[in-house]
Amino acid sequence: MRPRRKTRQVDVGGVKIGGGAPVVLQTMTSGHTHEIDKCIADVQKLAKAGADLVRVAVPDKRDTEALRPILAASPVPIIADVHFQFQRALEAIEAGVHKIRLNPGNIQDRKQVNRVIAACKERGIPIRVGLNEGSIVERRDKELRAAEKVTLEQDYAGNLIRLMLEKLDEYLRIFDENDFHDVVLAAKSIDPRIVIDVNTAIADRYDYPLHLGLTHAGPTVTGRVRSITPLAVLLAHGIGDTIRLSYAADSIQEVEDGKELLCCLGLRSRTEPELIACPTCGRIEVDLFKLVTDVRRKLADEIDIPVKVAVMGCVVNGPGECEGADVAIFAGRGKGIIYVQGEQKQTVSQDQMLDALLAECREFATRVKRGEAQLTGADVTIAPPNPLPRPDGSVPLNVAGR
Ligand code: SF4
Repeated sequence: MRPRRKTRQVDVGGVKIGGGAPVVLQTMTSGHTHEIDKCIADVQKLAKAGADLVRVAVPDKRDTEALRPILAASPVPIIADVHFQFQRALEAIEAGVHKIRLNPGNIQDRKQVNRVIAACKERGIPIRVGLNEGSIVERRDKELRAAEKVTLEQDYAGNLIRLMLEKLDEYLRIFDENDFHDVVLAAKSIDPRIVIDVNTAIADRYDYPLHLGLTHAGPTVTGRVRSITPLAVLLAHGIGDTIRLSYAADSIQEVEDGKELLCCLGLRSRTEPELIACPTCGRIEVDLFKLVTDVRRKLADEIDIPVKVAVMGCVVNGPGECEGADVAIFAGRGKGIIYVQGEQKQTVSQDQMLDALLAECREFATRVKRGEAQLTGADVTIAPPNPLPRPDGSVPLNVAGR
């Protein structure tokens, strides 16, 4: 992991983005904002799942009119997503929204953009300047559009990134002229490689915090890998201050996967149980997939601390993995052997495995809360070995960036 990039910091209703703050996880509601009760229920559900910020679209006046009750009921700061109509931004600011997402290219009149900036400046509200691959190509000027098309055909990715950077320069000049620097930048594409390259270039060029994401990642079955691959690459290189996964699915899955990504990279502390399970193979001795599904559901319902639980299908890798977990089970010939922090506790029959494992998890969690036990890994610092020198004698960085 490379050290986090140093950026300016913005404050979104008390949640800091950039400037050394933890990477912020955000998502967006998928329903109509003017359906107030449903929107509030969605925002609360997403916040409970772990979203630090929630964005809502405000295409109509009835959406901005819904913001006051939504803001009053939201446990997290709310971002208003504005396209095309600067009045929606002004109304959202007036309602007390905590951040505005704006693509200045979608608002034709510069004076209107200036009015939004002035209103945000007056109230200390940051603006995310967001570019999308789909909105970057010229739409109004036919000649310019034809010329861009020819250029893009020659080297699509390279010239698209150049165009995105030119647009960003152009937009940021507007903010500079207004002496407004409470800005978060974003440049999204549907292509993970372009997301990596354009954000790396932006990180080199500006010191504003960066919002990472793909425009439309698709259904979760493919969208997960499509989204997480570029975000993981960028975050591992210290780039990115807030993230959003964009699935064609319930936004709760964006939050769950975003949390897991940040936890895997050590950018967020785990607050819930972590479940390790083997993939199974020809040595499998039980119906492990069902057991894992049941354990996962029960742990989510019953355990509220980051207990590390392992469920293994046989004795080959089972004991070794079990010893690295807080509570673990490995199966063998119709039986399950349960370990707690490396100590063998009991052997149970196959039909008792779920209940017995959960009983041990509950008891262990109670002991942790009473201060009688410590979570495995709570104090663990991952310190990779010092790398071998290269043939020329120089020493490469190891994965921890040392
Ligand atoms: S733990 Fe056993 S069953 Fe599971 S993948 Fe490893 S060898 Fe196969």
